[in-house]
Amino acid sequence: AFALELNDLKKVYATGVEALKGLDLAVEEGDFYALLGPNGAGKSTTIGIVSSLVNKTSGSVRVFGYDLDTDLEKAKQQIGLVPQEFNFNPFETVEQIVVNQAGYYGVPRKEALVRSEKYLKQSDLWEKRHVRARMLSGGMKRRLMIARALMHEPRLLILDEPTAGVDIELRREMWQSLRQLNEAGTTIILTTHYLEEAEMLCRNIGIIQAGELIENTSMKALLAKL
Ligand code: ADP
Ligand code: ADP
Repeated sequence: AFALELNDLKKVYATGVEALKGLDLAVEEGDFYALLGPNGAGKSTTIGIVSSLVNKTSGSVRVFGYDLDTDLEKAKQQIGLVPQEFNFNPFETVEQIVVNQAGYYGVPRKEALVRSEKYLKQSDLWEKRHVRARMLSGGMKRRLMIARALMHEPRLLILDEPTAGVDIELRREMWQSLRQLNEAGTTIILTTHYLEEAEMLCRNIGIIQAGELIENTSMKALLAKL
């Protein structure tokens, strides 16, 4: 079964920029997949379309078999998105942020509180649950973004440049927790422009350039070629 299937995906922005020129991509359930490419290649556009924040021009997107055009709500339930920029309300507490997120996805409050304890402990943020998000360190904010994305227990976690601007120690720590999530069964797709990051984490890799997939292979096979 595929966690994600993109068929002939195209995006032309209002400015006339052709950001995606017919992307075909399939990511298997359980995979840890990197979408690698230089700035402007179309990575954020792809993620934006999959998480229904950006409208596609044409083509199809299926998430665990749910087509975005016909089963949008089901598809959305499968996906946890960790955008590159912090987009929580900095004046809310850590707990409010994760519990409210569960609410957006229809998780009952009692269950949301149970999950909040689970995911905040897992992210080493439980002690900080009553602290306003603006008071957290950069590393804690990153972990909060991930904990929030897990609250509706998505089967597919998508991270956009998760370690951009993150120091090496924190990067290692994030890699470790992403590995654990993947081992526990969550399919993970991340975008990066560091080959090293993809190499450290990912089983399979797609290389995107100027809106086209120019390589789609296992990390092992790619490294053997270099
Ligand atoms: P990446 O994430 O790989 O850096 P993007 O998906 O952000 O690439 O961008 C792909 C192309 O689309 C680039 O040429 C970029 O300038 C353009 N682009 C991205 N977002 C917009 C937008 N909202 N309006 C117009 N052009 C955009
Ligand atoms: P829609 O309103 O289009 O159905 P969603 O409610 O599913 O969209 O939200 C889209 C994304 O924005 C999700 O990642 C969701 O968690 C996030 N989001 C929505 N409302 C808020 C909010 N008030 N604060 C933070 N994130 C939010």
